[in-house]
Amino acid sequence: MSGLKPPTYEMKLPNFQTSACRINNSDMTPLPSPEVLISEVGPRDGLQSVKATMPTADKLRWIDALAAAGLREIEVASFVPAQLLPQMADAAQVVQHALRHTGVRIMALVPNLRGAQAALAAGAQKLTLPVSASSAHSMANVRKTPEAMVDEVRAVLRLRDEIAPGVPVEVGLSTAFGCTLQGTVPEDDVLRLAHFLAEAGVDEIGLSDTTGMGNPAQVKRLFKALFSEIGALTGAAHLHNTRGLGLANALAAYEAGVRTFDSSLGGLGGCPYAPGASGNVVTEDLVFMFEAMGIHTGIDLDLLMAARAPLRAGLPGEPLYGMTPEVGLPKDWPSR
Ligand code: ZN
Repeated sequence: MSGLKPPTYEMKLPNFQTSACRINNSDMTPLPSPEVLISEVGPRDGLQSVKATMPTADKLRWIDALAAAGLREIEVASFVPAQLLPQMADAAQVVQHALRHTGVRIMALVPNLRGAQAALAAGAQKLTLPVSASSAHSMANVRKTPEAMVDEVRAVLRLRDEIAPGVPVEVGLSTAFGCTLQGTVPEDDVLRLAHFLAEAGVDEIGLSDTTGMGNPAQVKRLFKALFSEIGALTGAAHLHNTRGLGLANALAAYEAGVRTFDSSLGGLGGCPYAPGASGNVVTEDLVFMFEAMGIHTGIDLDLLMAARAPLRAGLPGEPLYGMTPEVGLPKDWPSR
């Protein structure tokens, strides 16, 4: 496809040098440069999927622990009306607190222009908007067609250009791999939407397996097609583990060229329709997979697992998932 502006998102990433030169306290050797970006979405996707509301002080402690573990991008909140999602009523306060972590890009989900205004006013450093590839899901979720959502994204981009030109805007194409309401979502619908969004000036366009229906062959095929459609604007793989395929799908996305992965500590959120299944891909297991393969994430797994403590404290009784935290790290980790 021609006529697209050159990709700019890599230049906007937080200072990679900072994390590349971060000193591992245990052996005082510099950590290798990260090769993939793990974008933690637990404080947003995870928390908005559980019934309980996490007290603000616990949220802040949890985000501090995630930053200490070496995460470089955290989706900390969703800017939606508090009467719709009381779990996110403290979004502005959470963003403002999280900004103290220089070297971590603080991201917020915004469903519309009003949300974007509030998120930018709070100081969010990256915005993400969900656009459903399934019309049925889009109508049920935001009472707008996917095309009307593209117009909303255009309005957000205009606002961004006006008041916060350095802030990247990402779109996650939800239900990209299937929809519980509509069933199959044609791949052409996904690619057409991505094309329009790229033309509108979105900085990154990712694919979300909102309902956990994707399989590795499909994930690889669709991400490859997305790369041919929009090139380096191709963004994150946002995968859910509803049917246990989260990690397999992440690996398939990696093999297709994806280098940004959304995941959630403890797989927070679960899935009401799949007892025993985590919600998002579990960050601890995803980091373990990449690190074990020699693909550096910049994340310290011991500190990452320690970040489960403030999460547990803030949401007592909420099930947390993850195989790596259960069994622990191999004996000689990380001396590879
Ligand atoms: Zn999700």
